[in-house]
Amino acid sequence: MSATQSVYLEEEGVYRFHMEHPVPAYLVALVAGDLKPADIGPRSRVWAEPCLLPTATSKLSGVVEQWLSAAERLYGPYMWGRYDIVFLPPSFPIVAMENPCLTFIISSILESDEFLVIDVIHEVAHSWFGNAVTNATWEEMWLSEGLATYAQRRITTETYGAAFTCLETAFRLDALHRQMRLLGEDSPVSKLQVKLEPGACSHQACAWDPVDATHPSGLLPCLWLAQAGLSPHEGVNPSHLMNLFTYEKGYCFVYYLSQLCGDPQRFDDFLRAYVEKYKFTSVVAQDLLDSFLNFFPELKEQSVDCRAGLEFERWLNATGPPLAEPDLSQGSSLTRPVEALFQLWTAEPLDQAAASASAVDISKWRTFQTALFLDRLLDGSPLPQEVVMSLSKCYSSLLDSMNAEIRIRWLQIVVRNDYYPDLHRVRRFLESQMSRMYTIPLYEDLCTGALKSFALEVFYQTQGRLHPNLRRTIQQILSQGLGPSAEASTEPNAELARAGAEAGSDSAALLLGDEAPSSAISLRDVNVSA
Ligand SMILES: [Zn+2]
Repeated sequence: MSATQSVYLEEEGVYRFHMEHPVPAYLVALVAGDLKPADIGPRSRVWAEPCLLPTATSKLSGVVEQWLSAAERLYGPYMWGRYDIVFLPPSFPIVAMENPCLTFIISSILESDEFLVIDVIHEVAHSWFGNAVTNATWEEMWLSEGLATYAQRRITTETYGAAFTCLETAFRLDALHRQMRLLGEDSPVSKLQVKLEPGACSHQACAWDPVDATHPSGLLPCLWLAQAGLSPHEGVNPSHLMNLFTYEKGYCFVYYLSQLCGDPQRFDDFLRAYVEKYKFTSVVAQDLLDSFLNFFPELKEQSVDCRAGLEFERWLNATGPPLAEPDLSQGSSLTRPVEALFQLWTAEPLDQAAASASAVDISKWRTFQTALFLDRLLDGSPLPQEVVMSLSKCYSSLLDSMNAEIRIRWLQIVVRNDYYPDLHRVRRFLESQMSRMYTIPLYEDLCTGALKSFALEVFYQTQGRLHPNLRRTIQQILSQGLGPSAEASTEPNAELARAGAEAGSDSAALLLGDEAPSSAISLRDVNVSA
């Protein structure tokens, strides 16, 4: 349990847990299963199913203590006693969750080393930003996520250097801009301070008017919405907050603040004082910004909060991309080869010999380099068929031997380009991956394109092994875009339509079901740690 003390009373068969600090309800978490512990540091152990324990231990032994110590040097003492990690089965619906004393993390991430490192460090950073000082309202979730992402990158800079940190940041900011293109610059989720939709209904095909009537479920009083002066379309569904704006636009704002004070170490000192002042309480953005201006009186005097075009108010309330982005030139030794290779493969006409010759050594690249390269190819898809053929010849077997974060991207390229010779790899991947983070994006792509019947076939073969919530989401993806006549015409489709209707009773599974398909895809596509 996410608790500072736990005792097992053997005679009674009872576990007792105690949390000595006040924490918000969302950080109370309990896990039960066939879990065995192994020490990985003086105050850390991993818990995992016995078959996973050796891998988990070997990947994290010693390093977690390194990350905790780096964080302590930056932001002050770790205040939760133990920092343990529990690995959960692939069906765990999110990548990782920062429950105090016991980070929850999905075991699927174990094979992708660099992602594992970043995800755990992010959760370590939440021990200060999120768990100790918490956002008072979900409408300002960026306070936890933006600050934790900033702290995570300070820790990786201290531990692995600026180049690696800039690479990882470039990779994520690329994803942020992708999400922006899909949603449009005026999307309400792109604000840091979002307005939640207090009464909106996530039931598919529900005609409930929140201003007018009580919801059929008896929940969610409509008056609230009317009093708040909101129309049903102005607000944001809380399920949509785990988007890249909350994380990366939030990060950019915090980074901008650090630039204003001119010295990242002075900014660390400020954050340390901020944690000390507000620990074990909940805050709003104004608390952070007031503290910032009070800590740097010279900046307050210069009215940095009102600089034209970069007003704090605009950072918080404008839709669209970040008003300023970090300088990532220190990562160029790692990002430049990616850009060069991408240029070669997308040159018109394709210089086959040059492109193939340069295929050399991506096997020595960092995972984030390869992922960035593949993401850019994905953005450019569909690609000319000859390019896809050559790419497949150069990379397909090589990428197949790499980790899942890389394989999923290559397979999405295969699907978005309808490249049938590599389709057997997609099937094999979907037969072995049972986690949401890897199955959903592939099913989305399969169903958007011409491969829906292939998707149906794979789904029928694997559905028995999927978590019920994931199964319902995939059923919903498979049934999207089926008109009434399509639903009636063939049996499997009718069955899917029924399954979709059943899913309506489970709002967690529905998640984004009432969105337009494009925004549903773009938000569901993003895998973030909490
Ligand atoms: Zn987080």
